[in-house]
Amino acid sequence: MLLEAQIVQVHDADIARDSTNTRSTTVDQGGDAALAHQWSRVRARLQEEIGEVEYRNWLRQATLYGLDGDEITVMMPTRFLRDWVNKEYGALLTAFWQAENPIVRRVDIRTRPAGANNAVPNLGEPTPVQGGKAATAPRREVEDRSEAAALLDARFTFDTFVVGKPNEFAYACARRVADGHAAPGFNPLFLYGGVGLGKTHLMHAIAWELSHRDGGDVAVAYMSAEKFMHRFVTALRRQSTIEFKNELRSVDVLMVDDLQFLIGKDGTQEEFFHTFNALVDSGKQIIVSADKSPSDLSGIEDRLRTRLGCGMVADVHATTYELRLAILEAKASRAGVAVPGRVMEFLAQKITANVRELEGALNRLIAHAHLFARPVTLEAAHEVLHDLLRAYDRKITIEEIQKQVCEHYNIKISEMSSVRRARNVARPRQIAMFLAKQLTSRSLPEIGRKFGNRDHTTVMHAVAKVTELMAGDPDFAEDVDLLKRILAV
Ligand code: ADP
Ligand code: MG
Repeated sequence: MLLEAQIVQVHDADIARDSTNTRSTTVDQGGDAALAHQWSRVRARLQEEIGEVEYRNWLRQATLYGLDGDEITVMMPTRFLRDWVNKEYGALLTAFWQAENPIVRRVDIRTRPAGANNAVPNLGEPTPVQGGKAATAPRREVEDRSEAAALLDARFTFDTFVVGKPNEFAYACARRVADGHAAPGFNPLFLYGGVGLGKTHLMHAIAWELSHRDGGDVAVAYMSAEKFMHRFVTALRRQSTIEFKNELRSVDVLMVDDLQFLIGKDGTQEEFFHTFNALVDSGKQIIVSADKSPSDLSGIEDRLRTRLGCGMVADVHATTYELRLAILEAKASRAGVAVPGRVMEFLAQKITANVRELEGALNRLIAHAHLFARPVTLEAAHEVLHDLLRAYDRKITIEEIQKQVCEHYNIKISEMSSVRRARNVARPRQIAMFLAKQLTSRSLPEIGRKFGNRDHTTVMHAVAKVTELMAGDPDFAEDVDLLKRILAV
């Protein structure tokens, strides 16, 4: 059985992630040696805080896996230890990490899922790094080794998914497909919706369910569109496309997350199209997610669009207040922390962008309360989340963004609307479009209009391009993050 999951892209691909609250991402703070050093300090503080014995019993076996974006991943050898450490020390670990490294906002404690080891027998495992040694494995590196075995996120199951009006249809479809006897009408299943609303969660949940059913002989391959492309390109380079094709065509279920990243990648799209057809023709299930419906995914070839839309298309809508509240309640109770109703109502009212941000806010509150041994209160929420809340209170305009970007790159404001395509003006223009998408609630066509009446597809390409550059070039990413920080104050 092939279980190819990959946790990296979940974060890399989320364009609007953290749109309101950015942090420094200097290499110093995220570098290998620095991370290893920070990890040893976190361990020392933990030991001090909980005492020798407890530390030895529970935390000694923790290893640092790496830093990805604002998330640190710590590995535990068993599920039991993972759950225990999560419940008992998760908040403390988070708080100590946050104190050591300002980039860190979340600590993810995980274990290799039981099924995954035998699932991918021939593929190398990512090597967790022992505490003392250099903590490499920023996950992007793992991703680049195309054979890296990857993991399904153990938190992303149906059990932990809170169902409400905005997602009930998508959930029902996901359940149906996970039952394993999906009607042909559900192939492909196309899940779409904005960032941080649970698409990846649902896909992982389906993968978990299917790959643990019937003695686990359903072969599930899960990957991001970027990963798909990466593997395809690597196969081309190594002249091993036949193996690549065979491998993909041998699965029972193929899941491709964030398909919008195939826009403009014609060769990869073509390959995906053929894989898609081969699988569907032999009765295999395809599950795809994207940020838009097939008909709105401009830049996708028509024949692919048609095929994508001919199964079940399910929209994950923006959250409602009720759903946000229910999610907070579920997460607080799972974490075993008493969070007063008033605090949850406040968060549900304020933090509306997406579930990821909501979750992040709650985690920060819990970590803070734990660290200072204080109950979670409304005052604490105001204090701890003040940067996040301020960003919600403040409405950034496209004009401000354009002005700031022009100042930063030393170009004239008129270049934002000009037709010139020289790199030195086109790139800042793209960055401004990207920031407009991230920091305002304007739609793509609205943004396009503010940039010399450009088409919404131009804005979309700009967003994709900047995202891609940020993923590949830390200096560039830092520059964009800096602009975001300046704009957010
Ligand atoms: P997307 O793939 O749509 O960008 P994710 O699936 O990565 O979003 O979800 C972002 C975060 O929010 C994850 O931690 C996920 O577990 C959580 N989340 C989203 N929707 C729900 C939900 N309905 N119930 C519980 N957690 C959710
Ligand atoms: Mg996702």
